[in-house]
Amino acid sequence: MALRFYNTLSQQVEEFAPARDNTVRMYSCGPTVYDYAHIGNFRTFAFLDILRRWLRASGFGLDHVMNITDVDDKIIRNAVAQHKSLSDYTAVYTQAFLDDCRTLRLEPPEHLVPATRHVDDMVAAIEKLSSGGHTYTSEGSVYFRIASFPGYGKLSHNDFSGIRAGARVDMDEYDKADARDFALWKAPKEGEPAWPASIGPGRPGWHIECSVMAIRYLGATLDIHAGGVDLIFPHHENEIAQSESLTGQPFARFWLHAEFLMVEGQKMSKSLGNYYTLRDLLAKGTAPEAIRYLLVSVPYRKALNFTMEGLKSAATAIDRLRNFKLRLETDKLPEGLNQPLAGRTAAAAHQFRGGMDDDLNTAEALAAVFEYVREANIALDAGEFRAANAPAALDLLAQFDAVFDVLKPSVQGAALTDEQIEARVAERTAAKKARDFARADQIRQTLLDQGVILEDTKSGVRWKRK
Ligand code: AMP
Ligand code: ZN
Repeated sequence: MALRFYNTLSQQVEEFAPARDNTVRMYSCGPTVYDYAHIGNFRTFAFLDILRRWLRASGFGLDHVMNITDVDDKIIRNAVAQHKSLSDYTAVYTQAFLDDCRTLRLEPPEHLVPATRHVDDMVAAIEKLSSGGHTYTSEGSVYFRIASFPGYGKLSHNDFSGIRAGARVDMDEYDKADARDFALWKAPKEGEPAWPASIGPGRPGWHIECSVMAIRYLGATLDIHAGGVDLIFPHHENEIAQSESLTGQPFARFWLHAEFLMVEGQKMSKSLGNYYTLRDLLAKGTAPEAIRYLLVSVPYRKALNFTMEGLKSAATAIDRLRNFKLRLETDKLPEGLNQPLAGRTAAAAHQFRGGMDDDLNTAEALAAVFEYVREANIALDAGEFRAANAPAALDLLAQFDAVFDVLKPSVQGAALTDEQIEARVAERTAAKKARDFARADQIRQTLLDQGVILEDTKSGVRWKRK
C-alpha cells in the first residue's frame, strides 16, 4: 500500500505524493530561541526527522524549510532584561538548538532560516496584503483583517462566522475559541528593538515570518506543512489566511500535526515547569539514543507520556537490537539457508514498511522488528539460523536504522574533558571580571547541565563532576 498521511485540513487519511518532480516541498515551524528547548519541543522535531527519513526511504527528494523565530515577545523581554542585543541573545539558544538536534541525530533541513534575515520580504508581503485590502493600521501596528479571508477556520474546523470585525490582538498566541485580527507588524514600544520600514518602524509578528519564508523558498503551494498540534490555531490558520491572500493559491496540500509529550496528564511546557531539557537528561547519564527512541516510538498523532521508566525501556529495546546485530555479525552460523526463516524476514520487512506507510505508524513498524528479532534469536539459539539468512536480517536492521537511527552508540559526548571544563571555567572568570554576570551564570548553568559543579572558593574556582 502506498504512503498515506492524516491531513488535518481534510480530516482524512490521504495517499501522499509530491505535486511536482518527485521532490517534497515541506515547511515546518521551528523553535523560538528564547531559552533551551525542552524534550516536548523535541518530540515534534523528532517526528519531523522521522517524516523526512521516511519520505526519503519512499524514494522522494526533499526540500525542507524550517524557520528560527529569533524575534518575538519573549525574546525581546529577556534580551532587554539582560541588556543584550537581540542577536547576541538569540545566538546562544540557536546554537544550543543546533547542538541538541545533532545530539538527537535530527537531520538539518535543507534551509534553516532565522526570521530576522527576511524582514524586508515580510515588509513587502505586508504591503502587498495592504494593497489587496487585507489589512488596517492602528497606532502604528498593521493588522490582518480576517473578515477579508472567507476560508478562515478551514484548518482548525472552527466556525468563525460570528467573529467580531475589528477585534484585534497583539499577542502571537491567543485564546483557542476566539478568532481575532492579528498583528502583521508591531509598532515598537519604549525600549524595544525595531526595524525601519516603509510601513513605519516596527517588527514582524510571528505568523507572517512563516508565510513569507515558506513562499520565498518553496513557492506558493507546499506539499507538506508540519508542526505541533498547538500550532493549528491560531498560528497555522493565520499562515493560511496570509499566504492564500498573497498568492491566490492553496498554501499547503497536506497539514501534519504532532501530538504532545505529556507529563502526568499535562503537556510538557515551560510555563507549567514540568519539563526536562535534553541537557537535563544527558546530565543524568541518559544516552541520547534512548531519548530519541522514546520520542518516536509512539505514533506522532498519539500523546506520549514521558516517564523515567519509559526512558529505561527505550534503552533496553535498543540493547536488544544491538545484541541481535552483534550476534549476526559474530556468531558462527551454519551454512545454508533456512527457507521458512527467510520468508519470516521478508514478511517482517514488509510489515515494517507497511507500518511506516500507514501515517508513520512507528508502533507497528517497531512491533514488526521486535517480533522478528524474538523469533530470530530463538532460531539462533537452536542453531537454525543459517549463514545465508544473515544478509536479509541485517538489511531489515539497516532499513529500521535508516529511520530510527539508534543502533550506533553515541560517543559519550556529553562528558566534557578536563581541558574543556577548564576552558569554560576560564571563560566564566573572564565574564565575571568584565562584570557580565548573566554570561557567567549561564556558563555555570550549562556546565551544571553537563554534570559539572562549580564552587567559588577563596583560592579560585574549583570544579567537580556530579
Ligand atoms: P516553540 O519553541 O515554543 O515555538 O515550540 C516549538 C515546537 O515545539 C512547536 O511546534 C510546538 O508545537 C512544539 N511543542 C511544544 N511543547 C510540546 C510538547 N509538550 N510536546 C510536543 N511538542 C511540543
Ligand atoms: Zn509557523
